[in-house]
Amino acid sequence: MSKPIAEQSNSLSIFWLKKYGYLDKDCSYKCGGITWTYGYSKNKNSISFSVIKDGCDTSEERAYINLRYTNTNKYSGGKDDIDYKIELTTTPCRYGGKRYWFICPLYKNEIYCGRRVGVIFSIGKWFGCRHCGNIAYSKQMVGGKYRWNGISILDLEKAEKEIKRYYYKGKPTRKYKRLMRLNEKFEQNYGMMLINWENRLDNIKKK
Ligand SMILES: [Zn+2]
Repeated sequence: MSKPIAEQSNSLSIFWLKKYGYLDKDCSYKCGGITWTYGYSKNKNSISFSVIKDGCDTSEERAYINLRYTNTNKYSGGKDDIDYKIELTTTPCRYGGKRYWFICPLYKNEIYCGRRVGVIFSIGKWFGCRHCGNIAYSKQMVGGKYRWNGISILDLEKAEKEIKRYYYKGKPTRKYKRLMRLNEKFEQNYGMMLINWENRLDNIKKK
């Protein structure tokens, strides 16, 4: 089986959630949905979700997103209803306010991922970060031709290789912090690309 290509993967971006007001400051419970149409087959996939903020606007705020969707088993054709919680975390913005991120909830070889990411992808039955999904990018993307916020996938891979250890005395090391910074910039722009891509699909649907 070939690896999924990121451009054709179902993904959910924090920037998309923000754009459509699901991360607005108020503390209300927000529900929404997203439908992806992809490929020449015009296959459709959709999920619904709700964004919940426990202890909203306090220092103990714990925000999360609940994803609800139906997974069809590729082999048996059986359907599973999935209700899947993904925690959100925040970082302060330079000019006040805060920015939300997903925390990848997946385990790979029994090791919890926990990466802070801007985009999560549909990975088999679950949603998680591109590292866990081992998502293959098109050749041009891997070749470093495409850059988001000036950062290519090669740059990210190089920064990751330079890391000898991720944490020292419980704190992220300098090189790990650099990788996180690059990754944030990359994913922010990459998320925008996905939004644009999605807008194009919207246009196609309307015709
Ligand atoms: Zn992950």
